[in-house]
Amino acid sequence: MALPEHGMSKEQVVAALEAKRARDARWQDGRTFGMVYDGGPGVHEVAEAAARMYLHENALNTLAFPSLGEIQSEVVAACAALFHGDTAAGFMTSGGTESILMAVKAARERARAERGVTEPEMVVPESAHAAFHKAAHYFGLRVHKVPVRDDWRADVDAMAEHVGERTVLVVGSAPQYPQGVIDPIPELARLAADVGASMHVDACMGGFVLPFLEMEGEDVPPWDFRVDGVTTISADIHKLGYAPKGASVILHRTKELRRHQTFVFDDWLGGFYASPNMQGTRPGLPMATAWAVMHHLGIDGYRRLTRVAVDAARRIAAGVRATPGLTVLGEPQAHLLAIAADPEAARPVDVFALGDALARRGWFHDRQSPPDSLHATVSAGNAPVVDEYLADLAACVDEVLGTRAADRRTDYATLE
Ligand SMILES: *Cc1c(COP(=O)(O)O)cnc(C)c1O
Repeated sequence: MALPEHGMSKEQVVAALEAKRARDARWQDGRTFGMVYDGGPGVHEVAEAAARMYLHENALNTLAFPSLGEIQSEVVAACAALFHGDTAAGFMTSGGTESILMAVKAARERARAERGVTEPEMVVPESAHAAFHKAAHYFGLRVHKVPVRDDWRADVDAMAEHVGERTVLVVGSAPQYPQGVIDPIPELARLAADVGASMHVDACMGGFVLPFLEMEGEDVPPWDFRVDGVTTISADIHKLGYAPKGASVILHRTKELRRHQTFVFDDWLGGFYASPNMQGTRPGLPMATAWAVMHHLGIDGYRRLTRVAVDAARRIAAGVRATPGLTVLGEPQAHLLAIAADPEAARPVDVFALGDALARRGWFHDRQSPPDSLHATVSAGNAPVVDEYLADLAACVDEVLGTRAADRRTDYATLE
């Protein structure tokens, strides 16, 4: 569709966009288990106020916009404190993928500088996010993808087999996305440290949950900078930080290690170019809205939302397990879970058919495989509708018994 010859009025533009949105997931009703994480009306208001102020600003050059430089350093410092990184330093990025790209790039550069590694390799559990494979593809690393254990956690012994003099990075997640379990971070960090390699903890999901669960008095396995050998951590403010999209942080244990992430170029007609991440022009909006939401919520706000989200996830997990024909994979430790067919059930349920039936009632799950399962990232916005969801779940199981979805695609992310 070509541009209209004559421009549309604001009213026409808004009406056209409203019409386009009609078929989009209804996250506002708490019916989406992933992708949008709803901190509630107060959080929306604060984010929208900050968005109006920073819609047009650019953090490419913080000499022009010093407020964005301050915003970045305050967000990074707040995360460093939450993750017990007394000496940690880092940057904001556009999201978890970019944070992971930067961790991989930094690990590669560090190994080249400190150990002369020219054919870099990384060792990742098969549960690690696809973004690590994207990073390997972009930055020319070989990936050793290692099967996980029966409990879905990284298999340290199996990973150890692949760690050697070319290893630049070992990866663990807290928690991993597919089943929501926390990898054995101290053991993985030791593997990396033994060969002088970097160790990344992917806390894209857990970074804004695990610190608050611990403050709530729950047992949280060690995963942050208190673990020796952990060199980088990624955490997404636009997930359980409840900020609008486009905000994540990448932290390095020290400012010294952080320099392997950055790029500077001083031989261009346009001037000196220093860049912390993949972006050139950096929108101020996601930085300012992340700062705004984080400061609006504060520690007590995040503790409250964490309690609500994790309790909702536990109610859903218990409800799924109590539904004949269904089970939850492994023992999820925070707010993510995978719903699968109970292998011992008398009559098997096709969970993809179940997902389609739930979708007809407005509930949105991602499909995952192997094994076939429905993913749920539970956040505070889902809590008010847990009972309604579980009732629909039971009804949908009855509806789909004996049927199988012909379409077996599992689209986590799409091209067009
Ligand atoms: C979401 C997620 C990512 C990727 O983050 P994006 O913001 O989608 O780029 C990486 N790791 C884990 C564990 C995630 O949940």
